[in-house]
Amino acid sequence: MALIRCPECGGELSTTAPSCPKCGYQQHAPPPTVVRTTEGLTGKFLDPVNNVRGCLRLVVLFLIVGLLLCLVGNYR
Ligand SMILES: [Zn+2]
Repeated sequence: MALIRCPECGGELSTTAPSCPKCGYQQHAPPPTVVRTTEGLTGKFLDPVNNVRGCLRLVVLFLIVGLLLCLVGNYR
């Protein structure tokens, strides 16, 4: 069993532990494969602000699509 650094709180975290004992970071939560493959190469996805912005963008996109579908349904 190896110790890694928790990306959330920076504390020591066992690779066999499902989550960080300090902050509860879920290290085995399945991330999208794109994030996992590019994570080490670019370091881009390590920035939590970028992650939050990407999620928000997706949520907004779904909301807009949902609204449009509702509008189209009402016009009929
Ligand atoms: Zn942690």
